Amino acid sequence: MPGVFVAAIDLGGTKAALALVGKDKSITHRQVLHTSDYLRPEDFVQAISAWLGSVQKELSPLDRIVGVGVGAPSGNRLHGTLDYAPNMPWEGVVPLATLLHEKTGLPCVLDNDANVAAYGEWEFGAAREMDDFIVITLGTGLGSAFICNGRMLYGHQGLAGEAGHMVIVPGGRPCKCGRQGCAETYCSATGFMMTFRELMQEAGREQELVHYFDPKAVEAAAKMGDTIARESFQKTAEWLGLTLANCCVFSNPRLIVLTGGLAGAGKLLLQPLQEVFERNLLRSYKGHVSLTFSALPGQDAALLGAASLVWRSFSSANPEFHEFL
Ligand SMILES: [Zn+2]
Repeated sequence: MPGVFVAAIDLGGTKAALALVGKDKSITHRQVLHTSDYLRPEDFVQAISAWLGSVQKELSPLDRIVGVGVGAPSGNRLHGTLDYAPNMPWEGVVPLATLLHEKTGLPCVLDNDANVAAYGEWEFGAAREMDDFIVITLGTGLGSAFICNGRMLYGHQGLAGEAGHMVIVPGGRPCKCGRQGCAETYCSATGFMMTFRELMQEAGREQELVHYFDPKAVEAAAKMGDTIARESFQKTAEWLGLTLANCCVFSNPRLIVLTGGLAGAGKLLLQPLQEVFERNLLRSYKGHVSLTFSALPGQDAALLGAASLVWRSFSSANPEFHEFL
């Protein structure tokens, strides 16, 4: 039986993962490109096109690649652009979707990494068949995507869903957005490590900090009973629980899915988080919003999400795609 595939691209500042994704979640023809090897976006697009050409030779004549889905930091769905992505080798506004479409002849959909994570959960993960949910990514930063009434929230400029930049501690930690006390500076993996370092310094244990490079190391210490490691999870849960409860007043979700590096901490984070979250929820929401971690395989979630961008576009009234079905 002929197969139908999407070319999925998980684009980051250092590398880009490429693969074909089938409607059944199958991932094949993987390739990794080093983003920094390509000085101009046109060179990167040329490399994608070359990869697609080699992949097409391996497919049977009846198989079809029906579109390209791209997840990228600072990706703007409405314009198909990368807007001033801070860690990319290309500066300014890059019309990546148009460049890819012109080079490959395939329709291309591009979105930011938090929205792509949400499309992945919607199509393949914890939020299947749901119309109202929020996805929060807890990595270097805190990304968020709001799905309300069965639609992704984009807003006037395509930039809606920046829960990471809600101020939760007035006058608090400086944020890269130029303000102080944003949720991202407390609840992301980066913010979590900052909290841990502060607590270790207060306890006079700064000389031990060389052993702790990432949340995984702190998690291991917490499981061994280290009180400061445990307190770091508790404090982070306080800030994150408040942030999530605040998010609920915008869109009245049924589910919040947590994903990204810090979500790997499991019960250590989820247990205190659930308690703080319920305590801060509006009374009418209490007991009606679930919190869960993403069940999608970490390394493939972004590829599945990027493919979902294209599958979802097929199901919306988008004439650009219909000729490919
Ligand atoms: Zn901020």
